[in-house]
This record gives sequence, C-alpha cells and structure tokens, in this order.
Amino acid sequence: MSSFSNLQLAPELARAVAEMGYESMTPIQAEAIPVVLSGRDVMGAAQTGTGKTAAFSLPLLQRLLKHENTSTSPARHPVRALVLLPTRELADQVAQQVKLYAQYTNLRSAVVFGGMDMKPQTIELKKGVEVLVATPGRLLAHIEAKNVVLNQVEYVVLDEADRMLDIGFLPDLQRILSFLPKQRTTLLFSATFSTEIKRLAGSYLQDPVTIEVARPNETASTVIQQFFSVGDEDKRRALKSILKQNKIGQAFVFVNSKLGCARLARSLEQDGLKTTALHGDKSQDERLKALEAFKSGGVDLLICTDVAARGLDIKDVPAVFNFDLPFNAEDYVHRIGRTGRAGASGLAVSFVSASDQRLVSDIEKILKKKIDILPMEFEDEFRRDASRSDRRDHREPRDRVEGRDSRTPRERRPFHDEDSRGAKEHAHTPSSWGASRYASRSNSAPKDPFFDKPYEPSVPADQAPSWEVAEKPAARSISANIKPKRKVAALFKSEEV
Ligand code: AMP
Repeated sequence: MSSFSNLQLAPELARAVAEMGYESMTPIQAEAIPVVLSGRDVMGAAQTGTGKTAAFSLPLLQRLLKHENTSTSPARHPVRALVLLPTRELADQVAQQVKLYAQYTNLRSAVVFGGMDMKPQTIELKKGVEVLVATPGRLLAHIEAKNVVLNQVEYVVLDEADRMLDIGFLPDLQRILSFLPKQRTTLLFSATFSTEIKRLAGSYLQDPVTIEVARPNETASTVIQQFFSVGDEDKRRALKSILKQNKIGQAFVFVNSKLGCARLARSLEQDGLKTTALHGDKSQDERLKALEAFKSGGVDLLICTDVAARGLDIKDVPAVFNFDLPFNAEDYVHRIGRTGRAGASGLAVSFVSASDQRLVSDIEKILKKKIDILPMEFEDEFRRDASRSDRRDHREPRDRVEGRDSRTPRERRPFHDEDSRGAKEHAHTPSSWGASRYASRSNSAPKDPFFDKPYEPSVPADQAPSWEVAEKPAARSISANIKPKRKVAALFKSEEV
C-alpha cells in the first residue's frame, strides 16, 4: 500500500497529513497525486468517500508552495487555484479540508457560496486568497461585483462535475472558465463519464490522464443493502422498529419531497425522536445548523431530500434509510454513499411500496444485481415469533427460510460489532446484518487498512439514541431545528405544515 512518505510532500503538508491520522494513500490518491504533481490534466472517476479531496488538494497545494509569502498585500495573494462544486454543503466541506491540509503553510484559502451574506465573503476575497472554493452562481456574482479576478488561476478543479451539469450549471461554468488563463491545469472529477461529461472534458481539458479507481455507480462494498416491502402507512413504524432492533446510533432518512421531509421530521419529533430536517427550502444557516446538530450528536435522525445525497462527508453515519425510493437510480448510489464511508461498515435500508416496481428495476440495472425484497416484520410481531422460535433449534431450516432470528432484539449485536458483519447470518429480520445478498460483498472488500477501520460512534456509548429512550410520544420535546406547529386558539382547525 502506498505511503504518503513516497510522495516527498513538503514538510508543512506532510505534517498536516500525519495529524489527520492518514497512514496510507487511498487508491484515488495513489493514482491522482503523482499525475497532478506532474502538471497533467486529470479526468477522474471516484466514489464519494474515497479520499478524493486530498487527492487533488495536496498536490495542488504542493505546487502552489512556490508562491507562498507572508506579505499583507492582497496583490501578493491572487487566486491561483479554483475549486468548483455543485452545492453549498460540499463547498463548505471541501474548504474545511483544504484549510486543514494548508494549515502549516502561508497559503490562504476561502469559500464562497450562495445563501449567505456576500459582505464577509467580499472582505475575505479582497484580502487575497490563493485557493478559492466556490459554487458557480455565487462565484459569478463576486466576479460581476469585481470582488475577485481570476486571471492568475493556474489550477481549476471541477468536482462532482456530473452533478453540476445535472443542476444546469453548464452556462455558469462556461462563463467562469472564460475568465481563466488558457494555460492552466484542469482536474475534472465525476461519478460518471456520461457523453455530456466527455464533451465538457473535450472542450476544457488538455490531453487528460483518465483515472478510474472504482467503477462509476459502484456502491461501497462495506454497505449492507436491504429492501423491505412496506406500505406508505407503515413506513414510520418500520423505520422506528429497524432503528431500535439494530440499536442504530444515528441515521440519514431520505425522502423525495421537501414537504414530505418537513412532515416526516415533525411527526418523528412528536414521537419523541431527536430529529432535524434538511431540504432546499431551508435557509443556508438552517441547513448548516442541521448538519452541525447531526455531526455533534445533538440529533439522531437527519431527515433529508437529495440535497444531502452527494459528497457530504459526515463520518460514522451508521445507517441510511430510503424512506422513499429515489426517482433516479443514480441518486440511490449517492444516498447510500453517506454510510460505509472511509471503510466503516454501514447499513442501507430501502422501503419499497407497491408502486415502486419500476424504481426497483432501475436500481437493479445500475447495481447489476437482482434485488431481494424482504417482507417487513414489526418488533411486536417479532417478539411473538421470537418466543415461539426460542422453543425450536434456531438452525432449523424453516427459521432460515422465513428469516426468524431466535435471539431477542436486546441479545442482538449492535451494528458496529465486528461479528455481526459479513455473510454469516442469513435471516430475514430487519436486524440481520448479513441478511442481504449484498452482505457477501463485504468479503471482497479491498485489503487496505484504510478500509478496515472499525466504526466509532460519534454519540457517546452511554448516551442512548432517542428511539431507545422514547417509548411514548413526547410532543413537547421539539428540537431547535424544527419550528413548532403554531397553536391556533378558537374555531379554526390547525393547518398541516
Ligand atoms: P473525501 O472522499 O475526500 O470526501 O474523503 C472522505 C474521508 O476520508 C474524509 O473524511 C477524509 O478525511 C478521509 N480520508 C482521506 N484520505 C484518507 C487517507 N489517506 N486515509 C484515511 N482517511 C482518509
């Protein structure tokens, strides 16, 4: 496995990498870093969570070190590297990582994205920054306001390029690229190499080196995927049952609409679960607060739309639920990429309702696998079954076929327990980590220490998740991130928000 020491990184960068605790390079880093250091353009396909940010940031910072200086003059700190991303959250996340990698250098970095006041961004830009991370729309606004000039850019990174095209950023990208010097290095990263991406690369990249470390649309081998047949009216109950039975610490729950997202968050909150919602109608401030609350363990469930599906690196998300199956099968891959990141094991549970057949077959096509849809068994039914099956030998064939696990939920291992991973078990209950046919994929996980790191919960072990505590609805404990329903005295019926 390649070590960072083979790269001969500048001591300032090597120190930052060592402090991050990285022991060896991930495959995308091993392939991309030497190419970027050599000055070539790159067209890279890499799964989210593969260490892509360091793969472009470290060599880029190394090459910019020749410009570092301690002058206070803005003219001595022109933008030399531009990193463009499709969403505010991603831009924020990448900028934070760049800051960490550059912390022992005199290179400055900043991030600009929409939904925030332009003034503080303007002040930072005017002081001068070498590395600018941005979303396209806000960057154009700053260019137009003459807050930034890009005529000394040497490196441009188009990250999650396919997503930028999906969102309709192509005209903005073309405009931004027209402000950059022709003589530069361009790095393009995309989950897929679609015809549009190839066209974009053909127009803006010069003789790029193609790096493909994971097949596009491949899901991480550390994620166990399960599909349960659940009617719309039972989904909430199913969610709570699975959370509880598997002793899951925290989870992302994906829904398809903003309204559905707000509604689900509210009703789970009323059930006493610590929940927050993240969707496109929330202000940027609310979105960042929701992510922070989740990251710090202040909430257990992040109910979100696909705005949170891409690239967000929140470590240690034990599980992802597709409360609604995504309309676009590629989003399935991105959603479940929120769990099982950086080698940790993860569970992805999808609820399939009667009208979802076409969506299931789209996912089967993209995964190139047949999906087993399991019947949902609820905890109360499960307890009855468990007491019956306790009287039988748990290896009895019928148990296997029907998927009854004779242990009580309490006896089951928490999901981060090493032994509960893999394909040893074949039961069909929601708590059977090896239940899915995909479980066996974990056996083929790369033998790389990076991918073998055990799961460490961000929530302290002594702090039980809200579904462990809340047996009864606790309508009063509404979190700071959800506005309580307005109480209307008098004759009107309260309105659904
Ligand atoms: P990314 O794909 O850039 O979002 O990175 C995913 C996560 O992997 C981030 O939390 C990084 O800090 C982490 N990471 C990146 N490179 C390495 C490495 N070589 N070893 C261990 N973790 C890494």
